[in-house]
Parts: sequence; structure tokens; C-alpha cells
Amino acid sequence: MTDFVPVNEPLLNGNEKKYLCECIDTGWISSEGPFVKTFEEKMSTTVGRKHGIAVANGTAALEVAVQALGIGEGDEVIMPTFTIISCAMAVTKLGAVPVLVDSDLYTWNMNVDEIEKKITSKTKAIMIVHLYGLPVEADKILALADKYGLKVIEDAAEMHGQTYKGKPCGSFGDISIFSFYPNKHITTGEGGMIVTDDEELAERCRMLRNLCFRKDIRYVHDEISDNYRFTNLQAAVGLAQLERLDEFVERKRAMGKFYTERLQDIEGLVFPIERTDYAENIYWVYGLVLDRNIQADNQMIQKLLAREGIGSRTFFWCMHEQPVYQKMDLFSKESYPNAEYLARKGFYIPSGLALTKEQMDRVVCAVKKVMMEIQRGS
Ligand SMILES: *Cc1c(COP(=O)(O)O)cnc(C)c1O
Repeated sequence: MTDFVPVNEPLLNGNEKKYLCECIDTGWISSEGPFVKTFEEKMSTTVGRKHGIAVANGTAALEVAVQALGIGEGDEVIMPTFTIISCAMAVTKLGAVPVLVDSDLYTWNMNVDEIEKKITSKTKAIMIVHLYGLPVEADKILALADKYGLKVIEDAAEMHGQTYKGKPCGSFGDISIFSFYPNKHITTGEGGMIVTDDEELAERCRMLRNLCFRKDIRYVHDEISDNYRFTNLQAAVGLAQLERLDEFVERKRAMGKFYTERLQDIEGLVFPIERTDYAENIYWVYGLVLDRNIQADNQMIQKLLAREGIGSRTFFWCMHEQPVYQKMDLFSKESYPNAEYLARKGFYIPSGLALTKEQMDRVVCAVKKVMMEIQRGS
């Protein structure tokens, strides 16, 4: 049998090795190394923000961002139920409460028209989470935030190089975050970044990322926080990756178009939208959703594709259905039908930047075969 096609493989054939060697040769491998600042500056400039604060991963970036905004015990933060748990955990860790919103089946993002009725006297912030490649309609959220005096946190973890109405994702609201996990358009292995225009907020994030050392006396601390520092080695890889951002986005778009073209005749599948009137899909990963009338779910598809030598992943699992939150008695009796449907029927196929044409052909064949098998009900 030919090799397994992994669901993701990053492309590391630019200046990554060169910059990493520079770290080794100069001895700068810790968070004190010079690449960290350069990477923070280049990333923040790329999205038109004044400050960048690099941290250990995207989850840490969310935690620091939420904490820096002063969100705490009893505060409510509005967010989609269909997202990665990092968003909700950043809020529940602080004793605050996520208030959930159902998905829009067209873009798979939070349905922005459902937000206003979720606002209460306890609401402190709205979390924008752009999912799978198309941005959330940020204008509507920013208008609501303005009207009700709420903070806005933008989770742009999957949105490197994406724009909304021509403005870069990562530039909306009070504070935005990115992840550099290997399945994002730009990777540093593990890594994340907070970007903001607010000097005070940026300073607060720098403190929170590094154990809240007091500035006047070292080893004296007024607050609890974590060590979420980002190393020079990570920054070396990040700088090399960032040099190729435009190329990577173009590559992902070509990949998305190729898949849609080749798969669109298959019955029983919902495809990602190529463009809306405010953005063109950048296909964080290439997602597909099974029609409601198809008997199988995404776990079944994942198994069948694996049998064909193709890696795939199911979509995120809704926050209101997470065992951890059920145990905490959160979201009991809540239901969000669109999000529940996406979580059960959505999956993504290999979409890493290192994917070859030949591998994509194999993926297409396997999806066709597996879908036919399911339709026959065998
Ligand atoms: C990947 C991702 C994160 C978390 O990033 P990590 O670096 O894996 O911690 C947060 N939000 C979204 C939307 C993501 O896709």
C-alpha cells in the first residue's frame, strides 16, 4: 500500500533552517533572544497593530488576552458554541461564564444576528472566532460592542493572511490573538501571539506572560499568572514562515479550489463557500459537511477514510456538549441545532501546505469511494 496521507504536514523549506542555525551559533535559544522582538514587530505590522506579544501557544494567548481585559468572577463573555475549547477555557478559568451562540450554516461561524439577545447586565465582552477560513461579520459585532460598551476579543488563530472588507483579521476589537500550531498558515511548532493597539493592555499582557514579575524588584509578585514565554527558536521558524505568508495563502486557496472542483459532483456533501461579499476563503483546512439525510456521521467517515490511507479529522465539538462543562452544571438544557449538526457531520481532509498534487488526487478518489459506499448503505 502507498503511504498514508497525513491530515496536515507543514512546509518548512524556506529560511527556517538558516535562522535556527543562527540561534545555535549565537547561543540565543531562550525568550531573551533577538528574533522574538523582530517576530513580534513583523507580525503586528502585518495586521496593522501597534503591539505584538508572543506566547507559548494560541490557548495561552487567549488566556492572557481575556485576563488582561480584566474579565473575572461572574462576568459573561459571548462566543460561539461551535469552536475550540481554548476560547471557553480562557473564560471559565477566571470564574467567568461563556454565553453561547449558535452557528450560521453558510459560513460555519457564529450567527451574529443572535448575539444581541444574549447581552445582559453581566456581559463584559464578545469573542469573535473566525473558523475554517471565512471571517465573522465583524462590523455587526463591533457596532454591538459600541452600543453596549463591551470589549471585543478577536480569535484570529486560523486567519493568518485573511481580510474582512479589505482589513486584516487580527486588527478588530480591543485585542486579537493568533496561533502558530503546525496546522495554521504560519507555524512555529507551538506558539501564539497577542496583538493590540492599546499600550497599557500590551504591557499587561507582557506581565501576564511572564509570571507577573514586579518591575521594581525581581522575584516579587503581586498577582498569579503563568510562564507562557516564547523562545528564540520558535521566533526563528516564525520569521522564516512569515516571509512566505502571501505564497502560503495563495497555495491554500488553490488547494481549496482544486478540492471543490474535483469533489463537487459527489452527492451528500456540503462544500465550503469560496467567497462571501466581504472575503475570499483561505481554507484554514478544507472542511466538508455531510447532508442531514446521510446516515453516517463524521466519526464513521474518519474511519473509512483511514482505511483508504487518508488522514482526516472531525470538526470541533460544541461547548454546551462538553462533559467538563456538564459536570460544572454549565449550559444544561441549552441546545444549538446548527452547531450540533456541524459537530456531528463536519470533517476535514488533508490540507497541509506540504500536500502534493498526487496526494490530493488520492484524497479525491478516496472521498468518492467512501461516499458511494455510505450512500449504498453498506
Ligand atoms: C488552533 C486554535 C486555537 C488554539 O491554538 P493553540 O496554539 O493550539 O493553543 C485557538 N482558537 C482557534 C480558533 C484555533 O483554531
